[in-house]
Formats: sequence, structure tokens, C-alpha cells
Amino acid sequence: MNDRYPFVNYPLQYSYSALEPYIDEKTMCLHHSRHLQTYIDNLNKLLKSNPKLQKYTLTELIAISHSLIPALGIPLKNNAGGVYNHRMFFEGMQPAGSGSPVLQKALSDQFKSYDNFMEMLKQAALSVFGSGYAWLISENQNLKIITTANQDTPDLTRCTPIICLDVWEHAYYLKHYNVRSSYIDDWFNVISLSAAEQRYLNAV
Ligand code: MN
Repeated sequence: MNDRYPFVNYPLQYSYSALEPYIDEKTMCLHHSRHLQTYIDNLNKLLKSNPKLQKYTLTELIAISHSLIPALGIPLKNNAGGVYNHRMFFEGMQPAGSGSPVLQKALSDQFKSYDNFMEMLKQAALSVFGSGYAWLISENQNLKIITTANQDTPDLTRCTPIICLDVWEHAYYLKHYNVRSSYIDDWFNVISLSAAEQRYLNAV
């Protein structure tokens, strides 16, 4: 996430239909080409009218948003966070299963078993009231499950996000209606453990 203004909505590394039948093509298309695009566009608009901020990377913008006046800092946090979170989410999925021997051992050590980790992540994701995300993060060499509201990100100055699960209704409503738990069960089939493994190895 080291790119700068003007931000670009990169194409996905897989087709919109590639995650079928778990996540449907229309949801993927709208989620990437409309929802994420809107965060990109609004972030660029904000930076266009605040040229002093154009030198910062995406993660730097998120970090400094907390020290700006609310009229600027809040929309900056929301839109830069929306870009960061969606990139993490989309880059964290892939059509077929993938291996992650190092991460899976670490998850088994930390959460007793990989199945238990999945159940804990699912329960965290179900606990998000309204819109937000569930995360696996690495902090001080420990793996932790956390949640964030709206487009808040984990504290990127203190931790490295490893896995990102979007539980905004737009991520699942067309196929799973209001049944978030069924969407989460499907999402586990398309999680990119190789992407998660790479993030974990970079963190530790
Ligand atoms: Mn989303």
C-alpha cells in the first residue's frame, strides 16, 4: 500500500466469477467496480482539494488522519481506510485452496487448531454490529483476532494485518441475503492462505 495520489483501482488477480459458487459474480463485480471504486474516487477528490496531503502513501494517510481537524481527518480516515480494507480483502481471496504451512502451524499453536481458529474468527465476524471487518493480525509476534467498525483499520503503527474479512452487507447480501454466517462459511473456501502466509512471514 505504498502508492500515492492519484490512487488507482487495480484489477483483481482473478475474474469476478472466479469465486463462484461461494461468492457470486455480481456481488464481486459491484463490490470491486462500484464500492471500492467509490472509495478510490472520494479519496482522490479529497486529496485533489488538499494538495499538501498528496505526498503521503495510503498507510501514511490513515496514520495522519487522526491528527487532522475532524472535517478533513474523518473523511480521510473513512476513504483511505475503505481503500486499504478492500484491497486487503480482495487480495486475500483466491479461487482454489492454497497451502500455508508456517501460518497454519502458528495458528494451531495459538488457537489450539486451525478449525478452532476458523470458529473464533467466525464468531468475531458475527459479533460485528452493523458494518465492519474481522481480522487476524500479528502484534508483538502474537496472532490475534480483532474486529473494526465501518472503515476503521487495525492500528497499522502497531500490528500487521494478516487476514481481512469484510462483513458489510454489500459483501454478501445478493447471494446470502441477511445470513452473515452462511457467507462466512462460504468465504472460508476462497480465503487465500498463501497471501496470508506471505503477510505473516513479512510480519515475523
Ligand atoms: Mn466492502
